Amino acid sequence: MTSLAVLHASQLVTVAGPKRPRVARELSELALIRDGGILIRDGVIEVVGPSAEIEKQVRDAEVIDARGKVVLPGFVDAHTHLVFAGNRLEDFERRARGDTYEQIAKAGGGIWSTVEKTRAASEADLLVEAKKHAEWFLSCGTTTVESKSGYGLSLEEELKILRVMKRLSRQTPLEIVPTFLGAHATPRNMNAGEYVNLVVDEMLPRVTSERLAEFCDVFCERGYFDIEQSRRILNAAKKLGLNLRIHADQLSNSGGSKLAAHLKAKTADHLEKTDGEGIEALKSGGVQPVLLPGSVYALGSTQYPRAREMIDAGLAVVIATDFNPGSSPTTSMPMILSLACTYMKMSPAEAIAASTINAAFSLRRGDQIGSLEPGKLANFAIFDCEDYRELAYWFGVPLTHGVYVTGKKVH
Ligand SMILES: [Zn+2]
Repeated sequence: MTSLAVLHASQLVTVAGPKRPRVARELSELALIRDGGILIRDGVIEVVGPSAEIEKQVRDAEVIDARGKVVLPGFVDAHTHLVFAGNRLEDFERRARGDTYEQIAKAGGGIWSTVEKTRAASEADLLVEAKKHAEWFLSCGTTTVESKSGYGLSLEEELKILRVMKRLSRQTPLEIVPTFLGAHATPRNMNAGEYVNLVVDEMLPRVTSERLAEFCDVFCERGYFDIEQSRRILNAAKKLGLNLRIHADQLSNSGGSKLAAHLKAKTADHLEKTDGEGIEALKSGGVQPVLLPGSVYALGSTQYPRAREMIDAGLAVVIATDFNPGSSPTTSMPMILSLACTYMKMSPAEAIAASTINAAFSLRRGDQIGSLEPGKLANFAIFDCEDYRELAYWFGVPLTHGVYVTGKKVH
């Protein structure tokens, strides 16, 4: 039996509370303990409380002194595109010069350039790059990520990406939750209808028979996959036992959130263009909104999703990085906290709950991770600051002091 004790945290932010996603005022209740401590045995949290209480039970445990520091549950990033080859530096520079999306695509940029690079890369090469990304996540205090395929766009190439995720999950302490996003875009040699047939008839059965994904996602958007095509793919995925997520209402209010509600998807993601009716639909369907302010920021847009209205409506809001090479090249949840507070008018406490416990529930892991409570995995991060609000305040400043997964130091 290995034991570990964390003592004297300035603030131990437990995020303890009801065994369900947090809504409305609950999002502000972080259940923090001043001069707090945790006792961990065999990777699982045994006791949480004031240090004076924990100290009496330490016995032979290894002790971490967290004086002057904040301890949080490891961040849970519920929306990333972690496996891809290369970068989009040319697009980035063109955008900085003022080129439009169409001009960038014409110059050979956009999603298709990442698909070509990813297809050209071997599984081994992709794994090397993915491991680097995983290390970045850990270094920012994130211990679980959802990870979508979607840069392959053919049966073999999508399977390749999902297999890389599976290998990656064995080679990094970062927990990887795989999502099949074959319907990310239509490949150049097909029309959308033909590609939807391929996704439904060939890809989904293989992905599920090889147990390569827990969730299925679709880019539901004008010019990508319309409502009917998205519905067909997600219904097929549901029949095969996958849970659903959906890229909805990012570029236009196209009814994606209503579709998510109708299909009882776990999440609807992006939602920059979702209106009051869409918010109502999400509420009635019990769908968690996953808001991605990093992509709004990186694209130079100013239209952030209506987080306040969603919180007021009682939705169990999640925030995530949307880590990807095109529109959100960041693994930093603290940066997302900053954007959520400054541009979406969430409080630092709401942003923390949205990036830990609510994100964990959206990935069906709310009973194992996302808060520091007895019986949960000892996944936590220690930051070099005395008040949790500093994480959102000192934006761009690396404050990570130590990161632990099941009680083992991983960064
Ligand atoms: Zn995305």
